Amino acid sequence: MPVLTYSEENAVINHSNEVASMGKNALIVTGRSSSRNNGSLYDVKAVLDKHKIKYTVFDEIEENPSVQTIINASKTGYEAKSDFVIGVGGGSPLDAAKAIAFLLRHPGHSELLYTLGDDEHLPLVLIPTTCGTGSEVTPVSVLTLTNQRTKKSISHKIFADLALIDGRYLKAAPIQVIRNTALDALTHMIESRLNTKADDFSRMYVDSGLDLWKKNMSVLENGRADTIQLCEMMNASAMAGMAIAQTSTGIPHGLSYSLTIRKHIPHGNAVGYFTAGYLNEADESEKKYLLDKMGFSGVDEFHHWYLKLYGKAEVSEQILNDAVDELWKNQPKVKTAPFEVDIDRLKRMAYFTYRYKTVK
Ligand code: NAP
Ligand code: FE
Repeated sequence: MPVLTYSEENAVINHSNEVASMGKNALIVTGRSSSRNNGSLYDVKAVLDKHKIKYTVFDEIEENPSVQTIINASKTGYEAKSDFVIGVGGGSPLDAAKAIAFLLRHPGHSELLYTLGDDEHLPLVLIPTTCGTGSEVTPVSVLTLTNQRTKKSISHKIFADLALIDGRYLKAAPIQVIRNTALDALTHMIESRLNTKADDFSRMYVDSGLDLWKKNMSVLENGRADTIQLCEMMNASAMAGMAIAQTSTGIPHGLSYSLTIRKHIPHGNAVGYFTAGYLNEADESEKKYLLDKMGFSGVDEFHHWYLKLYGKAEVSEQILNDAVDELWKNQPKVKTAPFEVDIDRLKRMAYFTYRYKTVK
């Protein structure tokens, strides 16, 4: 994980020299409004003004960004002659910034996003404002292919040059955003641990991330958090990102995309819908280890907690069957599970929440 990463209050202001060393003309990539409300965009502009660095703001990144938006943003950056990119926001603007930094090195060649080749990109700074994706430290950029009604990672590994993490940006986040994104971080840790590529190092990130996550999980229940708690949740998310940067995500992420595209279920919750089903299939000792770390006595108690906090999403059998069919075609993703998965076992995982009738 080669990203130079700082996590501290005022990280952006404190590391203005490192930001300024990236170039002379920035393209700031962000969402429609939240970075204005939580102060992150203001901090970035203050740093660029201080160092007399020109900038252009592209603030049209939608949730689950589409390839078309990436192309539009790249045109803006190309016309402005941007020589580095700063992504500010949740996973959507950060993932978008990676793809845009790549396209600005390959102008006019959007087809290269999904073609194997060099991973060269403009210098890239990422500043997260949600506590879920860990995108600031992963090489992954997930985009929506609107025509195919699905989401897919681009073919390139784009690590940022600099990540600046400041939990204070979460102060402005509604409880639903914190809940959905913290659940995403949890699923990254579970899918990283229950993964054929897990090793001592990725497990180290999962262990430390889960300790921080469990220490602060009351925030998800009561919505109250102080600055230290918010910073720790951001760190749990970054550690989860460092873990999946080594292992990749697994089956629940692979199943989740249909739910997000067709039912507009936020990413973390869409993945969480499949987490109990995945855990339930795991080897007993691994299952117990993870549940102990999270503070649950068994899969049932975990699932009950999930349903109480997030509700049971209304998903049709058609969508679940399509999710299974789509993932089955992606055998490398299916094979990240550290146990044999045939189509019946995959269906059992996909239908676990759907078939779960009672909330105790
Ligand atoms: P998001 O889609 O970036 O943002 C969700 C919502 O939260 C938006 O409405 C956004 O508003 C708002 N928001 C962001 N920060 C906020 C804050 N501090 N206060 C108040 N509101 C805030 O959410 P996300 O869950 O972080 O990212 C999901 C995306 O990341 C998905 O596309 C998923 O596939 C991807 N992902 C990537 C990786 C990876 O490794 N790269 C891993 C997992 C998921 P605005 O639109 O106004 O900004
Ligand atoms: Fe995720």
